[in-house]
Amino acid sequence: MPGRLTACLLVAATLLGVLLSPSGSVVAQDVPAADAPTPVVDLLAGRTILSAPERPADLVVIVSIDGLRADAIAPALNAFAMLRRRGVSADAASTIRRSTTLASHASMLSGVDVDAHGMTWNAWRPERGRVHFPTVLQVAARAGLPAAMFVGKNKLRHLVAEDDPGVAFTVNGRGCGSVVDRATPWLRDTAAGVALLHFAGPDGAGHRRGWMSPAYQTAVADADACLQRVIDDLRARPTGLQHVLLLVTADHGGHGRSHGTALDVDRHIPWFAWGGAATRAQTITRPVSTMDTAATVLAALGLPQTPGIVGRPVTEALRPRNAVVAGAGAARPSGRPSARRGGALGRVARAPTRPIQ
Ligand SMILES: [Zn+2]
Repeated sequence: MPGRLTACLLVAATLLGVLLSPSGSVVAQDVPAADAPTPVVDLLAGRTILSAPERPADLVVIVSIDGLRADAIAPALNAFAMLRRRGVSADAASTIRRSTTLASHASMLSGVDVDAHGMTWNAWRPERGRVHFPTVLQVAARAGLPAAMFVGKNKLRHLVAEDDPGVAFTVNGRGCGSVVDRATPWLRDTAAGVALLHFAGPDGAGHRRGWMSPAYQTAVADADACLQRVIDDLRARPTGLQHVLLLVTADHGGHGRSHGTALDVDRHIPWFAWGGAATRAQTITRPVSTMDTAATVLAALGLPQTPGIVGRPVTEALRPRNAVVAGAGAARPSGRPSARRGGALGRVARAPTRPIQ
């Protein structure tokens, strides 16, 4: 690696509050106080790698369905079926070992694990401060792009810097319909930017009645209907779908009435990419980490990868801007959707029942 580039990376890492260990891995140093500025965001302010005419996407929408197991997605669910047929699907996607809501969302949106983002708890505890590593929404906002979170759980407020007004944050209740109601005007009116929509229903049903129970499956069907509304909204955009990237995933799975373990049944998550910015339909069989979601968002928007980020862009989900786009809805898979989607869960169906929340 050229010395100049190494020096730049070290400066960036120091500003970030992390240092490279002798082994090359990123280790947590003294993280900034909760109310301190986030230096790396300032470092990235206003900088983009790709200009608007070149970046794969102008608008990135992340839909996170809380507690959605990949094997709970029934073939009859229309929105998911469309994503399988026409989008990019990752069969072996997983969240971090600490498969709880706050920690997993922090990794999904920042691209680093708990040691760097610091979200070791799983409730709204304002005295404990905010995420220690910038989320993609923060990076986008500092680059001048609109960024908004429409969520069903207030504890996700930990993922917005306290003194950063650049990221709009609204809690819309646990019903995904109210989340979509609130997000729809934003999606229609925002030409470029990034949004997170968080549907809490499946997780709530799983805790109350059990993962894969009829109540849980009803909640998954509700989420599918809400997802369809988002897809319809994106299709109705005046500027079209060509430079839109929709990412649909989950923070974790679950078993019994809980989750939070390092077991596959808790860690295995669905992962889809769709829209004009995504490449044509395909199934990815290599492992994909939830941390790759953050890196993919940054790459899609032409933003620099945050110094110290662990995730890597899922390049299969990113179409070069100058590629011929036949229309996201016209893309067809070369074969039938993989029959082993979610299959890993079947191997770990029996899991300890100790609740970890
Ligand atoms: Zn969750």
